[in-house]
Formats: sequence, C-alpha cells, structure tokens
Amino acid sequence: MTPRGPQETLEHAQTERRHAMVEGQIERRGVHDPDVLSALRTVPRHLFVPTEVEDRAYDDAALPIGFGQTISQPYIVALMTVLAEVTLRSRVLEVGSGSGYQTAILAELADRVYTVERRRELEERARLILAKLGYHNVTTVLGDGSLGLPEQAPFDRIVVTAAAPSPPPPLLEQLAEGGRLVVPIGPAGGDQVLVVVTRTADGWHEVESIPCRFVPLLGESGYRDVEGQEPP
Ligand code: SAM
Repeated sequence: MTPRGPQETLEHAQTERRHAMVEGQIERRGVHDPDVLSALRTVPRHLFVPTEVEDRAYDDAALPIGFGQTISQPYIVALMTVLAEVTLRSRVLEVGSGSGYQTAILAELADRVYTVERRRELEERARLILAKLGYHNVTTVLGDGSLGLPEQAPFDRIVVTAAAPSPPPPLLEQLAEGGRLVVPIGPAGGDQVLVVVTRTADGWHEVESIPCRFVPLLGESGYRDVEGQEPP
C-alpha cells in the first residue's frame, strides 16, 4: 500500500470526523433519513468555515463565519433538511446562504437550488466555494431574501435560515401548491421555534417543530431594524 501524502492524510482525518459527526450528533438524535445522512457525510463542512475555526468544523455547535453571522449547528441543518422533505425533483429556495453549507446539503438532494444572501462578502464566498465543489445546480443571488425570488417562483421547498417575526408573506405566495416552507419564527435574539408551513389547495397550514435560536432575518418582510446589525 502506498503511504498517504500530508494532504491526503488531512482529508482522510476530516472524512473520519465528518462520519463521526453524523453518527454522534445526527443519527443519535433520531435523524435516520438515508439521503440526508448521505449528504451530510459527503459535504466537506470544514471548507465552508473560516480557517480560524476549521478545527471546530465538525463540533456539535454553530460557528462564527464573520459579519456577526453563523453557520448553523449540524443537527439543525439536518433537521431543517428533513423537515423540508426535499426530493430529486424539488426546486428549492434558500433564504440566508451564509457559508453556503446548507445550500450544498440541499443541492445534494434537489434538482435546483436558488439561494439568497443579503451580505455581499458572504454571497461571494458561498458562490466561490459552491462553484469550486462543482454544485452546478445552485444559483446564488445577492439581495433581500425576505422578498423571495419572484422571477424564479413558484418553489416546491423554501428553507429560511434566519428568524422571522412571522412567515414572510412573499415566501408564502411563492410556495407551490403541495410545497413546504421551513422557517424559524420568533423574536430577534430570543427564543424561537422552527415552523413548517405546507401549502394545499385550501391555503397554508402551520406546524411547530422544535425550539431554536437563529440570527434575525433582516429585510422588508423580516425585521426592519435590529440593533447591532450592520447594513449589507
Ligand atoms: N444557512 C447558512 C449556513 O449554512 O451557513 C447559515 C445562515 S446564517 C444562520 C443566516 C444568514 O441569513 C446570514 O448569512 C445573514 O446575512 C442572512 N440573512 C439575514 N437576513 C437576510 C435576508 N433578508 N436575505 C438574505 N439573507 C439574509
């Protein structure tokens, strides 16, 4: 057997940590969807975080990605993906690209993913890493995702990774019939709950999942004025 070079050894160690993350943090908490688990084993989370926190990429925690924003805890990414019920035919809108990690997980499972980020630097970083990893079914957009992406609507699935005061009306409108919206709802900086909204022929139906904590969704159909948040 040829010995591994230093780069290969490092990649091998990250793969082992990723597999341990899936077993210890995700499966142990009751997520067993094989496609979601496979996506989490595939996407190299350490490439989506700033180098200063790369050694913590597979920890059971949210991590800072700059500009007061975070990459969500792996379990929350897994749970939101399960709740969204993404299939290979899904046309997905993600609001809040952040690091691009949740985008990559969605892109592993969906036909097409549109992701909107309000911070220019984050949108740029997410776009570059997603392209480098070959996610050709992703389009990144700079803008206010609380307004959705009317020119690409309707969407089968919408995943919002920042907390809104209530489900943003433009997102409810842009959800296809039979579609699902997953969105954290609650006060900025306070206790929030993950909500799943389904759209049927009769209208919209909301079900609450687990308590959570997300950074606020800033924008016209989100929070308009949150102290300490810089403009994009
Ligand atoms: N999904 C991300 C990941 O995997 O790294 C985590 C996203 S972070 C918790 C929330 C993101 O939402 C931040 O990057 C923030 O800039 C962005 N955001 C907040 N309000 C937004 C808006 N109206 N439109 C688009 N992005 C927004």
